[in-house]
Amino acid sequence: MKVELLREYMSKMCDLNHAVQLMQWDLKTKAPKNAVDTHIAAISTLSTESFKMSISDQVKDFIETFEHDEKLDDIMKKSLKDLKRTYERSKNIPEKLYNEYTSHTAKSEMVWEEAKRNNDFESFRPYLEKIVVYNKEMAAHIDSNQNVYDVMLDNFETGLSSDKINNLFEELKKGIVPLVESISHKERVDDSKLLGNFEEYKQKELSEYILKYIGYDFDCGRLDKSEHPFTTGTAPYDVRVTTRYDKKDIKSCLFGVIHEGGHGIYEQNISPSLIKTPLAVGTCMGIHESQSRLYENILGKNIRFWEPIYSKVGEIFPEFKAIELELFHKAINIVEPSLIRVEADELTYNLHIILRFELEKDLFTGDLQVKDLPQAWREKMKKYLGIVPKTDTDGVLQDCHWADGSFGYFPSYALGNIYGGQFAAQMEKEVGTIDYLLKEQRLDIIKDWLRNNIHRFGKMKTSAELIKDVCKSDIDVKPIIDYYQNKYSRLYHL
Ligand code: ZN
Repeated sequence: MKVELLREYMSKMCDLNHAVQLMQWDLKTKAPKNAVDTHIAAISTLSTESFKMSISDQVKDFIETFEHDEKLDDIMKKSLKDLKRTYERSKNIPEKLYNEYTSHTAKSEMVWEEAKRNNDFESFRPYLEKIVVYNKEMAAHIDSNQNVYDVMLDNFETGLSSDKINNLFEELKKGIVPLVESISHKERVDDSKLLGNFEEYKQKELSEYILKYIGYDFDCGRLDKSEHPFTTGTAPYDVRVTTRYDKKDIKSCLFGVIHEGGHGIYEQNISPSLIKTPLAVGTCMGIHESQSRLYENILGKNIRFWEPIYSKVGEIFPEFKAIELELFHKAINIVEPSLIRVEADELTYNLHIILRFELEKDLFTGDLQVKDLPQAWREKMKKYLGIVPKTDTDGVLQDCHWADGSFGYFPSYALGNIYGGQFAAQMEKEVGTIDYLLKEQRLDIIKDWLRNNIHRFGKMKTSAELIKDVCKSDIDVKPIIDYYQNKYSRLYHL
């Protein structure tokens, strides 16, 4: 068999995925209301087609033929390895079970939305219980030797066990909880001056300016509006980002855009040599989040980031001319325990994630029952953040991840912070301090460093390989803790 056949096969799968991604983007941004049903039907047809291709006998043949073929180049070897992994993980899931699960989660998402609106966990409980059962069943088909939660983690972070994550998060907690505690005794910065009436077209203008400033390429992407910000597309030449506009508070758009810009820059800088292979994507969720969070927090919430461009903010929104940069900087870095994860600050955000990780882990070991989730949620909120939600809407019902079956996804966010801390520390050693680079407006040096060390490899390297090659170490919590301690002791005079 010729290797060209394998190339063509992968290329066709990429084309199907490309179409699915575009339609999903359209659904969330531009599609007219009455187009929704036909769009969903088309998405489902094409994704089923792509899924069938990934578990076909043809793929089995490719694996058998080429697995030990030394003549394959590195890209083809790794692509085949990736095809094999998907094949092995999916081939044993009975079609009936897979279909039942997909339609159950689709329904469960709708029930969850309603339950969240009505603060009614009980109506959602049976659906969630069933999702847990389905996931246990599927995990047993994927790999019966591994514990269930580890199989699910493997969907998002290959090779990281729950024990390992648990240890990392214990360390993270040890660093963060005392910091949050000391900050809580300090006077809160008054950020009310930052609220106002910010017109949408102006927010868009500023967003585009900032995206360009950090190195996002509009020839390979675009910015649109959506309910929840996201990044999607086909790397590297079509990577689109979205944002939302809050009329009163410009911060949500600004930092949402920088966050998605970080995801976008990652995908736009994947090597073109990986096009039409399964490797032309970010390697995993954790590394993806490391890039978005590095841009959003480590760069975007640094005063030096804003120094050279703050006058531009004042140009677009003259009301900012009266707000001193120092106040703006303090306001974007307020740390305070809050109920909602997506609104949390850089520091307490980690605690929201750790809480979810611990709860979902316990759900799958059997230490926690779904019916006891709301109470367990309140207890952990009290323990880690010192506050308790009055409703389940602001508690256990706030996120969509469990309703759509994405158990094992949450840890990626905090792992992203840990990886981001390591990358930032290494970058500083190699090309100069972030303070200096930002002050001199050398965002290009930062982007080049990230591209050379991380982006261009796409999925050629796993997260562990990237960390090892770039930072010459294993996953390490220390750099991000050091960063938090330095930054917040200065900001809050601790
Ligand atoms: Zn993100």
